[in-house]
Amino acid sequence: MSAKLIDGIGLLYTGDPAREEIADAAMVVEDGRVVWTGPAAEAPEADEREDAAGRCVIPGFVDSHAHLVFAGDRTAEFDARMSGQPYTAGGIRTTVAATRAASDAELATHAAALLGEMRRQGTTTVEIKSGYGLSVEDERRSLEIASGLVDETTYLGAHVVPAGVDADDYVRLVAGEMLAACAPYAKWVDVFCERGAFDGDQTREILTAGIKAGLLPRVHANQLTEGPGVRIAVELGAASADHCTHLSDADVDALASSGTVATLLPGAEFSTRSPYPDARRLIDAGATVAIATDCNPGSSFTSSMPFCIALAVREMRMTPLEAIRAATYGGARALRREDVGVLRPGSRADYVTLDAPSYVHLAYRPGVPLVAAVSS
Ligand SMILES: [Zn+2]
Repeated sequence: MSAKLIDGIGLLYTGDPAREEIADAAMVVEDGRVVWTGPAAEAPEADEREDAAGRCVIPGFVDSHAHLVFAGDRTAEFDARMSGQPYTAGGIRTTVAATRAASDAELATHAAALLGEMRRQGTTTVEIKSGYGLSVEDERRSLEIASGLVDETTYLGAHVVPAGVDADDYVRLVAGEMLAACAPYAKWVDVFCERGAFDGDQTREILTAGIKAGLLPRVHANQLTEGPGVRIAVELGAASADHCTHLSDADVDALASSGTVATLLPGAEFSTRSPYPDARRLIDAGATVAIATDCNPGSSFTSSMPFCIALAVREMRMTPLEAIRAATYGGARALRREDVGVLRPGSRADYVTLDAPSYVHLAYRPGVPLVAAVSS
Protein backbone atom coordinates (compact mmCIF):
# COMPACT_ATOMS: atom_id res chain seq x y z
CA MET A 1 0.00 0.00 0.00
CA SER A 2 1.16 3.50 -0.81
CA ALA A 3 1.99 6.28 1.62
CA LYS A 4 -0.50 9.14 1.94
CA LEU A 5 0.35 12.65 3.06
CA ILE A 6 -2.41 14.55 4.84
CA ASP A 7 -1.38 18.13 4.34
CA GLY A 8 -2.83 21.49 5.34
CA ILE A 9 -3.86 20.43 8.83
CA GLY A 10 -4.62 23.68 10.67
CA LEU A 11 -4.13 22.00 14.02
CA LEU A 12 -3.05 18.42 14.66
CA TYR A 13 -3.98 17.20 18.13
CA THR A 14 -1.79 14.11 18.48
CA GLY A 15 -2.83 12.80 21.90
CA ASP A 16 0.87 12.11 22.45
CA PRO A 17 1.96 13.74 25.72
CA ALA A 18 5.43 14.26 24.24
CA ARG A 19 4.10 16.61 21.52
CA GLU A 20 0.42 17.12 22.00
CA GLU A 21 -0.42 19.85 19.48
CA ILE A 22 1.17 20.81 16.17
CA ALA A 23 -0.07 23.89 14.27
CA ASP A 24 0.10 23.98 10.45
CA ALA A 25 0.81 20.28 10.48
CA ALA A 26 0.98 17.28 8.20
CA MET A 27 0.80 13.55 8.77
CA VAL A 28 1.87 10.58 6.66
CA VAL A 29 0.04 7.26 6.90
CA GLU A 30 0.92 3.93 5.32
CA ASP A 31 -0.55 0.44 5.71
CA GLY A 32 -3.00 1.65 8.35
CA ARG A 33 -0.28 3.17 10.50
CA VAL A 34 0.99 6.67 11.13
CA VAL A 35 4.57 6.94 9.87
CA TRP A 36 5.25 10.66 10.32
CA THR A 37 3.77 13.76 11.98
CA GLY A 38 5.17 17.27 12.12
CA PRO A 39 5.05 20.78 10.71
CA ALA A 40 3.72 20.82 7.12
CA ALA A 41 6.81 22.70 5.96
CA GLU A 42 8.94 19.68 6.89
CA ALA A 43 6.66 16.99 5.46
CA PRO A 44 8.29 14.23 3.42
CA GLU A 45 7.17 13.19 -0.06
CA ALA A 46 4.39 10.63 -0.39
CA ASP A 47 2.55 8.79 -3.17
CA GLU A 48 -0.78 10.48 -2.50
CA ARG A 49 -1.76 13.79 -1.01
CA GLU A 50 -4.92 14.88 0.79
CA ASP A 51 -5.57 18.50 1.75
CA ALA A 52 -7.20 19.04 5.14
CA ALA A 53 -7.85 22.66 4.12
CA GLY A 54 -6.91 24.14 7.48
CA ARG A 55 -9.15 21.88 9.51
CA CYS A 56 -8.30 20.20 12.81
CA VAL A 57 -7.30 16.53 12.85
CA ILE A 58 -7.54 14.45 16.04
CA PRO A 59 -7.15 10.77 16.92
CA GLY A 60 -10.37 8.75 16.66
CA PHE A 61 -12.12 8.79 20.01
CA VAL A 62 -11.61 5.81 22.30
CA ASP A 63 -14.93 4.98 23.97
CA SER A 64 -13.75 2.70 26.76
CA HIS A 65 -17.15 2.04 28.37
CA ALA A 66 -20.26 0.99 26.45
CA HIS A 67 -23.07 -1.52 26.83
CA LEU A 68 -24.15 -2.17 23.25
CA VAL A 69 -25.52 -5.73 23.33
CA PHE A 70 -29.15 -5.35 24.36
CA ALA A 71 -32.68 -5.25 23.07
CA GLY A 72 -35.66 -3.13 24.00
CA ASP A 73 -36.16 0.43 24.90
CA ARG A 74 -36.56 2.40 28.14
CA THR A 75 -38.09 5.58 26.85
CA ALA A 76 -40.88 5.39 29.43
CA GLU A 77 -38.38 5.06 32.29
CA PHE A 78 -36.44 8.10 31.07
CA ASP A 79 -39.66 10.04 30.67
CA ALA A 80 -40.70 9.13 34.23
CA ARG A 81 -37.28 10.06 35.60
CA MET A 82 -37.38 13.44 33.89
CA SER A 83 -40.79 13.82 35.56
CA GLY A 84 -39.16 13.49 38.98
CA GLN A 85 -38.54 9.81 39.80
CA PRO A 86 -34.98 8.85 40.95
CA TYR A 87 -32.64 6.41 39.12
CA THR A 88 -31.94 3.04 40.76
CA ALA A 89 -29.85 0.11 39.49
CA GLY A 90 -32.96 -2.11 39.20
CA GLY A 91 -34.08 -0.79 35.80
CA ILE A 92 -31.43 -3.03 34.25
CA ARG A 93 -33.80 -5.98 34.71
CA THR A 94 -36.22 -4.51 32.13
CA THR A 95 -33.50 -4.68 29.49
CA VAL A 96 -32.50 -8.18 30.60
CA ALA A 97 -35.99 -9.51 29.81
CA ALA A 98 -35.95 -7.94 26.33
CA THR A 99 -32.38 -9.10 25.63
CA ARG A 100 -33.13 -12.71 26.57
CA ALA A 101 -36.13 -12.68 24.23
CA ALA A 102 -34.11 -11.36 21.26
CA SER A 103 -32.35 -13.52 18.66
CA ASP A 104 -28.59 -13.45 18.12
CA ALA A 105 -29.13 -11.73 14.79
CA GLU A 106 -31.31 -9.03 16.34
CA LEU A 107 -28.75 -8.33 19.05
CA ALA A 108 -25.85 -8.25 16.57
CA THR A 109 -27.66 -5.98 14.11
CA HIS A 110 -28.64 -3.57 16.86
CA ALA A 111 -25.12 -3.43 18.35
CA ALA A 112 -23.61 -2.90 14.89
CA ALA A 113 -26.03 -0.03 14.28
CA LEU A 114 -24.91 1.65 17.50
CA LEU A 115 -21.27 1.15 16.51
CA GLY A 116 -22.09 2.85 13.22
CA GLU A 117 -23.59 5.78 15.12
CA MET A 118 -20.41 6.00 17.19
CA ARG A 119 -18.18 5.94 14.14
CA ARG A 120 -20.11 8.73 12.44
CA GLN A 121 -19.37 10.80 15.55
CA GLY A 122 -15.66 10.10 15.40
CA THR A 123 -15.21 7.03 17.60
CA THR A 124 -12.85 4.39 16.22
CA THR A 125 -12.19 2.19 19.28
CA VAL A 126 -15.06 0.87 21.40
CA GLU A 127 -15.26 -1.40 24.41
CA ILE A 128 -18.44 -3.49 24.68
CA LYS A 129 -19.70 -5.14 27.85
CA SER A 130 -22.14 -7.97 28.36
CA GLY A 131 -24.46 -7.65 31.32
CA TYR A 132 -28.00 -7.84 29.95
CA GLY A 133 -28.08 -11.63 29.66
CA LEU A 134 -27.38 -12.63 33.28
CA SER A 135 -27.69 -16.35 32.52
CA VAL A 136 -24.80 -18.55 31.44
CA GLU A 137 -26.02 -18.82 27.86
CA ASP A 138 -27.25 -15.24 27.48
CA GLU A 139 -24.01 -13.77 28.82
CA ARG A 140 -21.97 -16.13 26.64
CA ARG A 141 -23.84 -15.23 23.46
CA SER A 142 -23.72 -11.51 24.31
CA LEU A 143 -19.94 -11.74 24.46
CA GLU A 144 -19.72 -13.88 21.34
CA ILE A 145 -21.67 -11.16 19.49
CA ALA A 146 -19.52 -8.39 21.00
CA SER A 147 -16.29 -10.18 20.10
CA GLY A 148 -17.48 -10.38 16.50
CA LEU A 149 -17.67 -6.58 16.43
CA VAL A 150 -14.78 -5.23 18.56
CA ASP A 151 -11.51 -6.31 20.18
CA GLU A 152 -12.29 -4.85 23.60
CA THR A 153 -14.93 -7.06 25.22
CA THR A 154 -15.88 -7.13 28.88
CA TYR A 155 -17.63 -9.82 30.89
CA LEU A 156 -20.17 -8.07 33.12
CA GLY A 157 -22.23 -10.98 34.40
CA ALA A 158 -22.12 -9.02 37.68
CA HIS A 159 -24.26 -6.16 36.39
CA VAL A 160 -27.18 -6.84 38.74
CA VAL A 161 -28.62 -9.93 40.47
CA PRO A 162 -31.42 -11.18 38.19
CA ALA A 163 -34.97 -11.18 39.52
CA GLY A 164 -35.89 -14.22 41.63
CA VAL A 165 -32.27 -15.41 42.10
CA ASP A 166 -30.48 -15.63 45.47
CA ALA A 167 -27.55 -13.17 45.56
CA ASP A 168 -25.00 -15.65 46.98
CA ASP A 169 -26.00 -18.31 44.46
CA TYR A 170 -25.67 -15.77 41.67
CA VAL A 171 -22.19 -14.64 42.75
CA ARG A 172 -21.09 -18.29 42.74
CA LEU A 173 -22.48 -18.68 39.21
CA VAL A 174 -20.82 -15.48 37.93
CA ALA A 175 -17.44 -16.48 39.42
CA GLY A 176 -17.82 -20.10 38.30
CA GLU A 177 -19.78 -21.64 35.45
CA MET A 178 -20.73 -18.35 33.77
CA LEU A 179 -17.16 -17.09 33.87
CA ALA A 180 -15.89 -20.32 32.30
CA ALA A 181 -18.42 -19.99 29.45
CA CYS A 182 -17.66 -16.30 28.86
CA ALA A 183 -13.89 -16.06 29.32
CA PRO A 184 -13.05 -17.28 25.78
CA TYR A 185 -14.89 -14.25 24.33
CA ALA A 186 -13.75 -11.60 26.82
CA LYS A 187 -10.62 -9.59 27.52
CA TRP A 188 -11.92 -7.85 30.64
CA VAL A 189 -13.98 -8.66 33.74
CA ASP A 190 -16.13 -5.97 35.36
CA VAL A 191 -18.49 -5.70 38.35
CA PHE A 192 -21.15 -3.09 39.13
CA CYS A 193 -20.01 -2.44 42.70
CA GLU A 194 -22.92 -0.50 44.15
CA ARG A 195 -25.67 -0.60 46.73
CA GLY A 196 -28.47 -2.56 45.01
CA ALA A 197 -25.94 -4.40 42.82
CA PHE A 198 -22.77 -6.07 44.30
CA ASP A 199 -21.01 -5.25 47.57
CA GLY A 200 -17.26 -5.09 48.19
CA ASP A 201 -16.76 -8.75 49.13
CA GLN A 202 -18.78 -9.97 46.15
CA THR A 203 -16.92 -7.61 43.83
CA ARG A 204 -13.53 -8.81 45.05
CA GLU A 205 -14.57 -12.46 44.73
CA ILE A 206 -15.79 -12.09 41.14
CA LEU A 207 -12.87 -9.98 39.95
CA THR A 208 -10.36 -12.33 41.54
CA ALA A 209 -11.99 -15.31 39.81
CA GLY A 210 -11.90 -13.40 36.51
CA ILE A 211 -8.21 -12.60 36.92
CA LYS A 212 -7.52 -16.29 37.60
CA ALA A 213 -9.35 -17.10 34.35
CA GLY A 214 -6.99 -14.75 32.46
CA LEU A 215 -9.21 -11.66 32.29
CA LEU A 216 -8.13 -8.14 33.23
CA PRO A 217 -10.17 -6.22 35.82
CA ARG A 218 -12.14 -2.98 35.55
CA VAL A 219 -14.89 -1.81 37.91
CA HIS A 220 -18.14 0.17 37.87
CA ALA A 221 -17.20 2.12 40.99
CA ASN A 222 -18.67 4.85 43.18
CA GLN A 223 -21.47 5.87 40.79
CA LEU A 224 -24.37 6.35 43.17
CA THR A 225 -22.66 6.16 46.58
CA GLU A 226 -19.19 6.44 48.12
CA GLY A 227 -18.71 2.65 48.16
CA PRO A 228 -15.61 0.42 48.12
CA GLY A 229 -15.38 0.12 44.30
CA VAL A 230 -12.47 2.48 43.72
CA ARG A 231 -10.47 0.98 46.59
CA ILE A 232 -10.92 -2.52 45.19
CA ALA A 233 -10.11 -1.39 41.64
CA VAL A 234 -6.79 0.09 42.79
CA GLU A 235 -6.03 -2.85 45.08
CA LEU A 236 -6.47 -5.34 42.20
CA GLY A 237 -4.58 -3.20 39.69
CA ALA A 238 -7.65 -2.56 37.51
CA ALA A 239 -7.06 -0.64 34.30
CA SER A 240 -9.98 1.61 35.12
CA ALA A 241 -12.47 2.59 37.81
CA ASP A 242 -15.53 3.82 35.98
CA HIS A 243 -17.99 6.54 37.08
CA CYS A 244 -16.07 7.88 40.13
CA THR A 245 -18.91 10.25 40.94
CA HIS A 246 -18.79 9.95 44.74
CA LEU A 247 -15.17 9.85 45.94
CA SER A 248 -13.54 10.26 49.34
CA ASP A 249 -10.18 12.02 49.61
CA ALA A 250 -8.61 8.58 50.10
CA ASP A 251 -10.22 7.38 46.83
CA VAL A 252 -8.79 10.35 44.95
CA ASP A 253 -5.33 9.76 46.45
CA ALA A 254 -5.51 6.05 45.62
CA LEU A 255 -6.36 6.78 41.97
CA ALA A 256 -3.69 9.47 41.68
CA SER A 257 -0.94 7.19 42.98
CA SER A 258 -1.94 4.14 40.91
CA GLY A 259 -2.11 3.05 37.28
CA THR A 260 -5.90 2.87 37.51
CA VAL A 261 -7.60 5.39 35.23
CA ALA A 262 -10.63 7.31 36.52
CA THR A 263 -13.16 6.96 33.71
CA LEU A 264 -15.88 9.59 33.91
CA LEU A 265 -19.22 9.03 32.23
CA PRO A 266 -21.04 12.36 32.18
CA GLY A 267 -23.80 11.03 29.94
CA ALA A 268 -25.02 9.04 32.95
CA GLU A 269 -25.27 12.09 35.18
CA PHE A 270 -26.91 14.05 32.37
CA SER A 271 -29.50 11.34 31.71
CA THR A 272 -30.26 10.71 35.37
CA ARG A 273 -30.17 14.39 36.30
CA SER A 274 -27.52 13.67 38.94
CA PRO A 275 -24.53 15.64 40.22
CA TYR A 276 -21.48 15.26 37.94
CA PRO A 277 -18.14 13.80 39.08
CA ASP A 278 -15.51 16.38 40.01
CA ALA A 279 -12.95 15.97 37.25
CA ARG A 280 -11.04 19.03 38.46
CA ARG A 281 -10.33 17.37 41.80
CA LEU A 282 -9.03 14.20 40.10
CA ILE A 283 -6.86 16.01 37.56
CA ASP A 284 -5.42 18.39 40.15
CA ALA A 285 -4.52 15.38 42.31
CA GLY A 286 -2.65 13.82 39.39
CA ALA A 287 -5.05 11.04 38.36
CA THR A 288 -5.33 9.97 34.72
CA VAL A 289 -8.86 10.71 33.55
CA ALA A 290 -10.83 9.20 30.65
CA ILE A 291 -14.24 10.15 29.29
CA ALA A 292 -16.59 7.55 27.81
CA THR A 293 -20.26 7.43 26.83
CA ASP A 294 -21.51 4.53 29.00
CA CYS A 295 -23.89 4.02 26.07
CA ASN A 296 -26.75 1.91 27.46
CA PRO A 297 -30.53 1.99 27.20
CA GLY A 298 -31.20 2.91 30.82
CA SER A 299 -28.94 5.56 32.29
CA SER A 300 -27.03 7.03 29.32
CA PHE A 301 -28.40 6.37 25.87
CA THR A 302 -25.90 8.52 24.01
CA SER A 303 -23.29 7.22 21.58
CA SER A 304 -21.66 10.62 21.21
CA MET A 305 -18.16 11.33 22.48
CA PRO A 306 -18.42 14.98 21.31
CA PHE A 307 -21.49 15.38 23.51
CA CYS A 308 -19.60 13.89 26.48
CA ILE A 309 -16.66 16.22 25.81
CA ALA A 310 -19.00 19.21 25.86
CA LEU A 311 -20.49 18.00 29.15
CA ALA A 312 -17.02 17.42 30.62
CA VAL A 313 -16.00 20.98 29.84
CA ARG A 314 -19.23 22.65 30.87
CA GLU A 315 -20.23 20.50 33.84
CA MET A 316 -17.05 18.84 35.15
CA ARG A 317 -14.73 21.85 34.96
CA MET A 318 -12.34 20.27 32.49
CA THR A 319 -10.52 22.49 30.02
CA PRO A 320 -11.15 21.68 26.33
CA LEU A 321 -7.58 20.32 26.15
CA GLU A 322 -8.15 18.06 29.17
CA ALA A 323 -11.42 16.82 27.67
CA ILE A 324 -10.01 15.90 24.24
CA ARG A 325 -7.07 14.25 26.01
CA ALA A 326 -9.45 12.22 28.19
CA ALA A 327 -11.51 11.15 25.16
CA THR A 328 -8.48 9.90 23.22
CA TYR A 329 -5.29 9.24 25.21
CA GLY A 330 -7.24 8.70 28.46
CA GLY A 331 -9.57 6.15 26.89
CA ALA A 332 -6.60 4.30 25.46
CA ARG A 333 -4.96 4.21 28.90
CA ALA A 334 -8.21 2.85 30.34
CA LEU A 335 -7.94 -0.02 27.85
CA ARG A 336 -4.17 -0.35 28.27
CA ARG A 337 -3.71 0.38 24.57
CA GLU A 338 -0.64 2.16 23.18
CA ASP A 339 -1.67 2.04 19.51
CA VAL A 340 -4.92 4.06 19.61
CA GLY A 341 -6.02 7.42 21.01
CA VAL A 342 -2.79 8.89 19.70
CA LEU A 343 -1.31 9.92 16.34
CA ARG A 344 2.44 9.31 16.31
CA PRO A 345 4.74 7.08 14.28
CA GLY A 346 3.70 3.47 14.85
CA SER A 347 0.17 4.14 16.07
CA ARG A 348 -2.92 3.09 14.15
CA ALA A 349 -3.96 5.64 11.53
CA ASP A 350 -7.35 6.13 13.22
CA TYR A 351 -8.05 9.81 12.77
CA VAL A 352 -10.91 12.26 12.53
CA THR A 353 -11.05 15.45 10.49
CA LEU A 354 -13.19 18.10 12.17
CA ASP A 355 -15.12 20.77 10.33
CA ALA A 356 -13.43 23.20 12.70
CA PRO A 357 -10.06 24.87 13.15
CA SER A 358 -9.61 23.42 16.66
CA TYR A 359 -10.81 20.62 18.93
CA VAL A 360 -12.05 23.40 21.24
CA HIS A 361 -15.07 23.62 18.94
CA LEU A 362 -16.24 20.23 20.25
CA ALA A 363 -17.24 22.03 23.46
CA TYR A 364 -17.62 25.54 22.05
CA ARG A 365 -20.21 24.34 19.50
CA PRO A 366 -22.10 21.66 21.47
CA GLY A 367 -24.52 19.48 19.57
CA VAL A 368 -23.14 20.50 16.17
CA PRO A 369 -22.03 17.66 13.84
CA LEU A 370 -18.38 18.69 13.41
CA VAL A 371 -17.01 15.32 12.29
CA ALA A 372 -16.20 15.76 8.60
CA ALA A 373 -14.44 12.45 8.01
CA VAL A 374 -13.39 9.35 9.93
CA SER A 375 -10.44 7.22 8.80
CA SER A 376 -9.38 3.92 10.33
ZN1 LIG B 1 -21.65 1.06 32.59
